[in-house]
Formats: sequence, C-alpha cells, structure tokens
Amino acid sequence: MTDQDLDFTIERLGECRFPSPMRKGRFAGDGERIMYHSRFDDMKPYLAAGAEPPALELAGPRERIFFDPATIACGIVTCGGLCPGINNVIRAVVLSLYHHYGVRRIYGFRYGYEGLVKRLGHNPLDLTPEVVERIGEMGGTILASSRGPQDPAEMVDNVEELGIGILFAIGGDGTLKGAGKIAGEAARRGRPISVIGIPKTIDNDISFIQTTFGFETAVAEAKLATYAANTEALGAKNGIGLVKLMGRDSGFIAAYTALVDSQVNYCLVPEVPFTLPGLLRSLEERLTARGHAVIVVAEGAGQELLAATGGRDASGNVKLGDIGTYLRDAIKEHFARSGREINLKYIDPSYIIRSQPANPHDSALCLLLGHNAVHAGMAGRTNMVVGFWNNQFTHVPIDLATRQRKKIDPDGWLWSSVLASTGQPRDIR
Ligand code: ATP
Ligand code: MG
Repeated sequence: MTDQDLDFTIERLGECRFPSPMRKGRFAGDGERIMYHSRFDDMKPYLAAGAEPPALELAGPRERIFFDPATIACGIVTCGGLCPGINNVIRAVVLSLYHHYGVRRIYGFRYGYEGLVKRLGHNPLDLTPEVVERIGEMGGTILASSRGPQDPAEMVDNVEELGIGILFAIGGDGTLKGAGKIAGEAARRGRPISVIGIPKTIDNDISFIQTTFGFETAVAEAKLATYAANTEALGAKNGIGLVKLMGRDSGFIAAYTALVDSQVNYCLVPEVPFTLPGLLRSLEERLTARGHAVIVVAEGAGQELLAATGGRDASGNVKLGDIGTYLRDAIKEHFARSGREINLKYIDPSYIIRSQPANPHDSALCLLLGHNAVHAGMAGRTNMVVGFWNNQFTHVPIDLATRQRKKIDPDGWLWSSVLASTGQPRDIR
C-alpha cells in the first residue's frame, strides 16, 4: 500500500452529547493523532511540501461521549481460533463498561457469530464483574467460538432487539471483516450501533498494528518446544529437532522464537521460499560440522513444495498442506536413502501454545486494548479496531486493518537478525 491509500479517518455515529462519567485520568483530545511513519526519511516529502503526514487517531477516554451509559446494553462476541488473552480482553471490556461508565447490561454471545443469530438458540451469557472476575487466569474463551458465515441482517435484527449500542468483536481478519459487515448493515438502517473490533491474531499479522495480544505468550511457549527439540537433538547421534509453529501467512512467531532461542539453526517462514534439496544439502553440511540441528518451520512455510489440499474450512480459509510432517518424512527418507543414521524428533505444539493463559505482558496489553475499545465505542466510533502503533493505542478503520496482512520483510531488520542468529544460508536453494 502506498501513502495515498492510507485514509485513517474513523467513522463516527454522531455528536458526543453526554459528559463522560469517568473522573480520573487523562482524556484524549479529539484531534490527537499518532504519526504513522517513524523513519525520518519517510517524513521528508511531507516536510518539503508542508503537507500533513498520515496519522492515526489516538485511543483513550473522551471527555464527552455519544452513548448514554444508563440506557444502552453492550455485547461481546469471540470468533475464530483460540489465542492467549481472549478472556482477559472480555474481562477488561466488562469491567470498563461496568465501572468506568456504569453500563449494567452486557451480553456475552456464545459460539462466535452463531450466537448473534437468534434463530440458532444460543442464549447469551449475562456478563457481570462477578462472572469475569477470575477468567483472566484461564486460556481459551468463556464465550466459545465458531467458524462459518452468518447473515449480517439477522445479526443486526438481534442486536437491535436487545438494545445493544456497542458490539465488541474479538477475532482475526475474518471476524473483523464480519464486524465491518455488521457495522455496514447498522449504518444502512440508520441505527446508532457502534461495532468495535479487538484484533485477535496469535500470528501478529494485522496491518497497522505493531503487536497483537497473545503473540508474546506464544513465543514464550514456543521456546519450550525449541528447548525440547535442542535437548533431544543433542541427546542422539545426528539428532535433528523439528518444531512446527503457527504462522499461516506470516512467520513472526517462528522468527521471534529463533531470536529468543539461539539454538535454532533453521527458521522457515512463508515469506521466504526455500527448496527441499537446498535444505537437505545444508542440513548434511550442518550435521557433518556440528552433529545436530534444530529446525523451526511456520505452518504456512514451503506451501509451494506441497500439493494444494484444495480444501477450505467453514469460514472459507484455505486448508494448508502439513509442512511439518512433510519435512519430517522427507528428511528421514533422504538420510535413509543415503545410508546416514539420523535421529529426528518432531514436535507440533500448536494447540498447547494457543490454549495457554496470557503471560503478564500480554495480560496488561489485553487490559489496555479492552479499556480502549470501550472508550472508542462510548465515544461513538464505529467500524474500527483498537490498535497499537508507535507505542500508543490507536484507532484503525476495519477496512484498512484487513486489506492486507502484515508480513516479514525479507530485506528488513527482523529477517536479517534471524539469519544472523540461526546462521542459516540467506537462500536455501
Ligand atoms: P483466525 O485468525 O483464527 O482465523 P478469524 O477471525 O479470521 O480468526 P474465521 O473463522 O476466518 O476466523 O472467521 C471468523 C468469523 O468471521 C466466521 O464466522 C466467518 O464466517 C466470519 N467471516 C470470515 N470472513 C468474512 C468475510 N469476508 N465477511 C464476513 N464474515 C466473515
Ligand atoms: Mg483468519
């Protein structure tokens, strides 16, 4: 995307007529914005032209709000796969609505967007501070999730019937696109309904958001797997530890895990293609030189090496081929053919990682995202997600956040650091 595509304008439901009941803390000014660019060179054209550079709306409580907290209900829905911290976000939203604004009716919709369709009969939970008190200590989502599309009109019918002013959608790109459709349907009907997304992606692959919740926990848990892989590799002749990590389109978890654990010798990610002969050749050299190797592979890496599955899940996401077991079998077969003894241990910790409770840093991030989502909704913002950019909480239009995925730049500092840490060839071919 070029700078011309960057319209960070956030939709508003209308004038903020009510004074905020929040008394403590600092209010965000209506015009406060955060610079999109942080590199001086990117700013030069704007400085030279005397033009405004692109900037994102700052998140935070507003002095005047759109909704009367005494009269509205709110709803929360969680969709897509699990990620550490979902319950913390639910808790933060409920506590902020209740304590900061005095909202007393908060519906927790069950099983993703299915729960918003009345006809399907999943009764919503009544969320109170008591219900959410300890849920931050638990992984998963107390609301449960689902995949598969629902009709925006049916969902908005239900939202209207329940008197919901703000709907919070916690989920990945699919969920956020769905949330955008709900916001669009409400707008078409001329209803003042705010739809606020809280991006959930363990892969940290949402554009215009520097870190998403759960990512740090995922990397910390992935370290347990690479530790085991290395220990196993050292404990046998020509030991190879192979770990498959999450990362369908973007290899951030694999890349950061390689930086966290410098025992990792190969990091394979979707953004950087490799060939099997190239990998096997390099592995042979590595075993000759060092007698063991640790490989981390992101689930979306090397898809060009596999036959396309042709399958899709209920939400329409392409089913990936299993690069982990493919590499496991290919490496074993290769060395069996060449008559060289190896000992390969394969570890796939994906479900163990994504079901963990959030670590302390992620817990704080979830709390602040949840609070800022509530502030945005109360101030009548809609069709947006709360983000984090240049170390500030921001508002991002859903359309922009979901237009393309954030990926590792193979020419950027992160990948360069991974190459430096693993010592793997720049081109595995
Ligand atoms: P994950 O990162 O775990 O895949 P996700 O939010 O992308 O999270 P999906 O299962 O793809 O998970 O989508 C969640 C919900 O959003 C599903 O109910 C799905 O049908 C709906 N959805 C996905 N894409 C769209 C879209 N383009 N428009 C409307 N709804 C969508
Ligand atoms: Mg998705």
